[in-house]
Amino acid sequence: MTQTINLLSDTITRPTAGMLEAMWAAEVGDDVFREDPSVNALEEKCAALFGHEAALFCPSGTMANQIALKVHTRPLDEVICDEMSHIYQYEVGGYAFHSGIAVNLLKGENGILDAGMVEAAIKPRYDWLPKSSLVVIENTCNKGGGSIYSLERIRAIRAVCNNHTLALHLDGARVFNALVETGDTPAAIGAETHSISLCLSKGLGAPVGSVLIGGEAFIKEARRIRKVMGGGMRQAGYLAAAGIYALDHHVERLRDDHRHARALADALSALPYATRIRPVQTNIVIFDLVAPHTPAGFLEYLGRHHIKASAFGPQTMRFVTHLDVDSDMIGRAIEVLRRYAV
Ligand SMILES: *Cc1c(COP(=O)(O)O)cnc(C)c1O
Repeated sequence: MTQTINLLSDTITRPTAGMLEAMWAAEVGDDVFREDPSVNALEEKCAALFGHEAALFCPSGTMANQIALKVHTRPLDEVICDEMSHIYQYEVGGYAFHSGIAVNLLKGENGILDAGMVEAAIKPRYDWLPKSSLVVIENTCNKGGGSIYSLERIRAIRAVCNNHTLALHLDGARVFNALVETGDTPAAIGAETHSISLCLSKGLGAPVGSVLIGGEAFIKEARRIRKVMGGGMRQAGYLAAAGIYALDHHVERLRDDHRHARALADALSALPYATRIRPVQTNIVIFDLVAPHTPAGFLEYLGRHHIKASAFGPQTMRFVTHLDVDSDMIGRAIEVLRRYAV
């Protein structure tokens, strides 16, 4: 049987043999009582990596982000973010539901904001306006095609936040994809942000879990919010062990995913049916199909050749590379792409 090449998302990876062994061997306890040594170790590891005081293991990136919004804001505040942000696009409007806040949407370049546009968006303090209290940046930006923030850009945004006493949260679901490309250290990015969420279950290849990182008081309150959201887990150390393994073994190899994504984009750039290929900086390839080609027809063709991908708009397609796609599979996928519509 032909092996499926799954480019749907980097969330679809299965634990490797080494990761499963680490999970089997995990020491566990009840994390609601903070007695799970593996969860505690993961939280300490993440806090130390990013130079923050504390961290909190969460079941999903959505929950980690939603907790951050809740702790950083009060009802009737607003969060400033790019219109492509995951917190706006893909979290079911949770900012309104959980936190009672508004969004102030900006149009960055492929999801990347600059300090000037953030400063211009901060509302003056009038009784009839929401209070701007939080900025969220997404690094890398998913809908922006895996686009990266430079450290200078983050620094400039943080300076604006400081001047206006706003908090800065980093949705770092794929922050390690950015860091292996820029060469910045996690601590450098940690120093510029009040809080960070990162996903262990995307490119890092763990089956479940995200981590919210921040100061002691912030995480203390975040732990209460996680509980009220139903995210207090018991012997979660089996999952935390997978996360620790992922941080130890699956960061450097993200470069392979980026090389694979660039190979796909290079191949597409020579094909007449693909247009507006977004700049590929990490592991995501977003492009448009030239009419009359449609995502439905293209996906059907790919499916016949055992390739999975996703439609990302009426004319838009997305490929995501990850741990379970090797160079041979990328070569095969490129052959299939070359044979479409010829
Ligand atoms: C996937 C993702 C999340 C949330 O992750 P889930 O674990 O699926 O809830 C948050 N932000 C970004 C940018 C993501 O890509």
